[in-house]
Amino acid sequence: MNVKKDFSETVGNTPLILLRSFSEETGCKIYGKAEFLNPGGSVKDRAALFIVEDAERSGRLKPGGTVVEGTAGNTGIGLTHICNSKGYKTLIIIPDTQSQEKIDLLRTLGAEVRTVPAVPYKDPNNYVKLSGRIAEESENAIWANQFDNLANREAHFRSTGPEIWEQTEGKIDAWITSLGTGGTYAGVSLFLKEKNSKIKTVVVDPFGSGIYNFVKKGEVLAEGSSFTEGIGNGRITENMKGAPMDDAIRVSDEECLHVVYQLLHKEGLFLGGSTGINVGGAVKLAKELGPGHTIVTVLCDSGARYQSRIFNRQWLESKGLKLPVGT
Ligand code: PMP
Repeated sequence: MNVKKDFSETVGNTPLILLRSFSEETGCKIYGKAEFLNPGGSVKDRAALFIVEDAERSGRLKPGGTVVEGTAGNTGIGLTHICNSKGYKTLIIIPDTQSQEKIDLLRTLGAEVRTVPAVPYKDPNNYVKLSGRIAEESENAIWANQFDNLANREAHFRSTGPEIWEQTEGKIDAWITSLGTGGTYAGVSLFLKEKNSKIKTVVVDPFGSGIYNFVKKGEVLAEGSSFTEGIGNGRITENMKGAPMDDAIRVSDEECLHVVYQLLHKEGLFLGGSTGINVGGAVKLAKELGPGHTIVTVLCDSGARYQSRIFNRQWLESKGLKLPVGT
């Protein structure tokens, strides 16, 4: 029988979708890896699965144990699905700036959720550091530590990268994505470069993240801010160390919004803000490379996780933004 034995086996093997309107605009083929079709609804299901299975193999995660994590939401959602299916608990620390939809979903799935004020990484009460301390102080608990746990990028080196290589039959000129932990970017970049060192691997950053300046000027330096969630970083994580970065592109929130609404109205794809940054970056890269190139990026998660924000006129207006016209 062609069946899956449990939730874990349904993670990955997502389609690669031609983004027709963006491809026509640029004369390139721009493809989106449909990570929002993972069973937990985002690209982070893969990292969550590899982190949990790595902790099981090493013996750190014991029956009935708890997985503690600091997350913008999607890793927590992936972890909670996987932990539910394997008999573990989750304790999720999430900044209170993240969308209510993600916080509510985590609670519905059964995670214990603690919302905390959003403070910079250097503050000891930053959500990531706090989650590490809570894990250490809790009984029969482990810290998933997605930012610096290399099982995260391993997930993408072993699954996302090979899938993209096979789906494009190796005919890919460039890979571009934004990064939070950098697991997706680094794992896929390292895999593709191993297959063909001529493939360009490019970071796309929202404002408020320091990676663009790291690539351009050698210094992690953030400028401005962004409404996007789950992406951007003010440091080079363990997952990003050694990752090839041929170039960096920056996409504004206004550009991101335009892309998100074009994805919805012209491609039929209802997707979140990080996907807007990714596809916006792919379009800019396509214009730089010129017609005839094949570019792959990531469709990270569903727009339903941000319905009260980027799909809500009042929220947009409160941020000084308008619903894009002509999409
Ligand atoms: N998009 C969204 C919506 C996310 O939640 C995340 C992960 N925080 C990313 C993109 C980036 O993925 P990664 O952590 O692999 O860099």
